[in-house]
Amino acid sequence: MDGLANTVQQVFNEPACGKNQGKSDKERKKGCTKALQPGAAAGGCAFDGAKIALQPITDVAHLVHGPIACEGNSWDNRGAKSSGPLLYRTGFTTDINETDVVFGGEKRLFRAIKEILAKYDPPAVFVYQTCVTALIGDDIEALCKAASARFGRPVIPVNAPGFVGSKNLGNKLAGEALLEYVIGTQEPEYTTPYDINIIGEYNLAGELWQVKPLLAELGIRVLACISGDARYREVASAHRARAAMMVCSKAMINVARKMEERYAIPFFEGSFYGVSDMSEALREIARLLIARGAPADLAERAEALIAREEARAWTRLDAYRPRLKGKRALLITGGVKSWSVVAALQEIGVEIVGTSVKKSTKEDKERIKKIMGDEAHMIEDMTPREMYKLLKDARADIMLSGGRSQFVALKAKVPWLDINQERHHAYAGYDGMVALVGEIDKALYNPIWAQVRRPAPWDTETVS
Ligand code: SF4
Repeated sequence: MDGLANTVQQVFNEPACGKNQGKSDKERKKGCTKALQPGAAAGGCAFDGAKIALQPITDVAHLVHGPIACEGNSWDNRGAKSSGPLLYRTGFTTDINETDVVFGGEKRLFRAIKEILAKYDPPAVFVYQTCVTALIGDDIEALCKAASARFGRPVIPVNAPGFVGSKNLGNKLAGEALLEYVIGTQEPEYTTPYDINIIGEYNLAGELWQVKPLLAELGIRVLACISGDARYREVASAHRARAAMMVCSKAMINVARKMEERYAIPFFEGSFYGVSDMSEALREIARLLIARGAPADLAERAEALIAREEARAWTRLDAYRPRLKGKRALLITGGVKSWSVVAALQEIGVEIVGTSVKKSTKEDKERIKKIMGDEAHMIEDMTPREMYKLLKDARADIMLSGGRSQFVALKAKVPWLDINQERHHAYAGYDGMVALVGEIDKALYNPIWAQVRRPAPWDTETVS
């Protein structure tokens, strides 16, 4: 546990994280985790965060060392897509029971690894620690080391038991596991001056596939996406990339920064949501690659592609403009989406009545200020009651959020669109922006709203 406590402390001291650096020493020691308010829905534990961050590596076996409930909690709740292997969608757990709690679960874990390797032959096994097995003292680091030596296959410990903190901390601990045991352990078959890493992109609903063809057209190869639609080998050889883009706001900032420090891979933070942010991301990728030795014509080719794609996107978006102009949206999300989706919607004339900034970093907030002009639109922590009031008072025509808040919108009889992790539509890149606007339009103009807002017949009709 000492090792884990050190890693957690290190992650809290992450120099590239503005939020932690802004705190005093005493505050930083306490970490970012706040005690849950009674009645509040828990936002996911550290184990959940670690699993979310790594499960999109599609060809490895993800083995949860703990009681069945932990795996049940995290399995299959995200739509991270794969273009090939499907092993990541098989739930593996040691399903420890009372006897293991008394006598220790290490033997059971060892047998599970052996069985998985024999039956599925994956390039690696990721072993996730959970609260119960951490509390009974199972040393997954030592066990994974012994299993790796015995079976000649990487067995990676992911030491992020739920009780150490939040989902966000779990994302970072997952990143630490990759840095410690995976990245830099293999070499790519070949390298090119156009190799990049994308960090913090999970290919939800296939969003990476809306971006990859554009990069490919410029000759840019995604050497590793950490971790959407990734293969173990790609992540293991990610240290040979020339530049990196960090997508999901700060979830894996430690990976981006440490790879810059260890392997001199420069990175920038960007977004694939919205027409101008997508163009900016392409420009910045080209700029970093040229700085690292790629031919200078890459910038011109990128500009030509941007001009073509922007024109195509605007032509398709213009059809929606008169229908969406002046519509007001309430955005309950966080992190990178709190500003990137704001920018994207403003581009087509949708007014933003508010955006939640609960999970946003200082940089995210700065960006929102730049885009929206004043701070009044930033909502720090909105209760469902306040959300309902805002929607009921018709200050918003639509709410965009994750699944958990959908019932507030539905109760207020206001259209709702899922833009969080369980979404089924992909919203990245130019095509994604058109898809997002199309979905907003469909939600707003769905005839069901006129019907549900009509008073019930028994309230208006007199019974004769
Ligand atoms: S908090 Fe602990 S017991 Fe609960 S799901 Fe997370 S790891 Fe499992």
